[in-house]
Amino acid sequence: MTAARRPLASHRRIVIKIGSALLVDRKTGLRAQWLDAICADIAALKGKGINVLVVSSGAIAMGRTVLDLPAGALKLEESQAAAAVGQIALARAWSESLSRDGIVAGQILLTLGDTEERRRYLNARATINQLLKIGAVPIINENDTVATTEIRYGDNDRLAARVATMTSADLLILLSDIDGLYTAPPHLDPEARFLDIIPAITPEIEAMAGGAASELSRGGMRTKIDAGKIATGAGCSMIIASGKTEHPLRAIEEGVRSSWFAPSGTPVTARKTWIAGQLQPAGELFVDEGAENALGTGKSLLPAGVRRIEGNFHRGDTVAIVGMDGREIARGLASYDAEEARQIIGRKSGEIEAILGYAGRAAMVHRDDLVMTASARRKTKKDLKEDAAHA
Ligand code: GLU
Repeated sequence: MTAARRPLASHRRIVIKIGSALLVDRKTGLRAQWLDAICADIAALKGKGINVLVVSSGAIAMGRTVLDLPAGALKLEESQAAAAVGQIALARAWSESLSRDGIVAGQILLTLGDTEERRRYLNARATINQLLKIGAVPIINENDTVATTEIRYGDNDRLAARVATMTSADLLILLSDIDGLYTAPPHLDPEARFLDIIPAITPEIEAMAGGAASELSRGGMRTKIDAGKIATGAGCSMIIASGKTEHPLRAIEEGVRSSWFAPSGTPVTARKTWIAGQLQPAGELFVDEGAENALGTGKSLLPAGVRRIEGNFHRGDTVAIVGMDGREIARGLASYDAEEARQIIGRKSGEIEAILGYAGRAAMVHRDDLVMTASARRKTKKDLKEDAAHA
């Protein structure tokens, strides 16, 4: 066992994401025996004093079986109705199964806005924390009955990562039919190697997951790596493991093959974690190299270093700060509406009052509201030297 692998019991708070196919069989419906087994695993963890949260998929799949819908794509309103029917059955199944182990379940349904908007985020977090405090297991899913394309997470991998960062969990476990990350798709490439420890999500690791548009990666490895970036960036470890066996958590304890992602080194404040984990920045600020270097040393983003602005954001919205080549460098909360921001780019902070007619903030994004995006960190001289030594 290498350093990144730690016993599950050494964690304080674990979020477990469970894929639809594990819980629901297309023909026979709920996989009740499997559910009972994982509930026993959860009870064992709780018995060791660990807080457990479940992000459970399966509402739509379950609704499909209950309604006996034909295979194939569903229209939006059909999948929303299927989710409405399926979610109630799913929640009941969790509640009944956990109660056999003496555990109370509480249902939380979230939409994207519940984690993207700060006040709603704090509300949802407070409810989840209260459930944990009273010893209940939150059973969380996307609110698929009202979520339309623009306002949905779309996949429960990223939702689970958001829940993990929101609740300061120290471990996220993604259970699905994939046992972990390979250097290439194993069914296509016989040379594909399994990776059991991933110390950092580098661009190479991202490339292994395939592009966002790839047919193979849809809802598969791509969203899992995205989840990994959110979770590990906030100091939370992540495991990808197969849930196909019964008692998958016990199997992980016993050393079953799985991929472990180490948390990134620098913990940031809860507020910055929220900023960094925003899934849909409202705009983009393109900055020059001088500004990029200043950000790297912990400075605020001044209007002078901004060259171009995209998007229509308001003051307080999250914006992505990107290099002129489009690489994301950081995220932060805009101090100005987009319209005003456009008027002051490239200008000195002292000129703001004359241009806008009032004395606004000197920074376009203040350093307290700004967090560097880990994967886009600019290389330091030391990094470059190390790269050269390894070449
Ligand atoms: N929220 C969806 C459901 O419960 C599943 C989304 C996913 O598995 O990524 O049916």
